[in-house]
Amino acid sequence: MSIPVKPTRQAHSLLDKHCSIFTSEIFAIYQAALIASKSKGKFCICTDSQSAIDAVKNFTNKSVLVTYVRDLLTKHANKMKLIELADSVAKSIHEEPDLCFDALEKADLKHLIKQYVHNKSLLKWNEYVHHYAAINPTRAKPIYTTNSKHSDILLFTRLRLGHTQITHDYLLNNGNGSCCICRTSRTSVKHILDACPQFTNTRRRMFDTALPSKLLTNITSSNISTISNFLITCNIAHLI
Ligand SMILES: [Zn+2]
Repeated sequence: MSIPVKPTRQAHSLLDKHCSIFTSEIFAIYQAALIASKSKGKFCICTDSQSAIDAVKNFTNKSVLVTYVRDLLTKHANKMKLIELADSVAKSIHEEPDLCFDALEKADLKHLIKQYVHNKSLLKWNEYVHHYAAINPTRAKPIYTTNSKHSDILLFTRLRLGHTQITHDYLLNNGNGSCCICRTSRTSVKHILDACPQFTNTRRRMFDTALPSKLLTNITSSNISTISNFLITCNIAHLI
């Protein structure tokens, strides 16, 4: 919703007769901001007074009316904007604004900075060639359901992180990296869950053609217990 601001005869009558045109303009903006602040919806307050806008944007200007306007615009930053429109277009409220009051509240600024830091770290995270980065590409904080067994959660977490006994053993004892179960492939969490031929029958019976490792991306009690059942059926839960 747009509110074209023009000092009206009524506005003038509320002001001292010695008030300047500038004060009338600011007073009209103040009245419009007051109405907008108490009304439902979002508002554009349109004025053709460049000096009024300059005064509001200038934080060293401590004029009482200007400060009132600035405080209202800052307090209701998401609700109203002060817009400059040339006199000829001020009457057309459908025209695009060419200047907006862009002051931010402290909370908005904190949110913007937090978002910026998060996006930056996410970009870096996605550059990592690591098992966990592939499992958790959004770097979301894992939240485990309370209705899962602790031992099942432990297995699920180790597989998600890629830190399991079976995949670490080859690093310590079996330097060539082959799977200690099938001896035919390099071992990894994905190999154990999705490809190790030793578990093909169980895998097919439980997952058909789907890949068990896909369940690791989504922490649900159903996925946790399915993975646990698979490991127990394959008799390798104690190796995770
Ligand atoms: Zn294998």
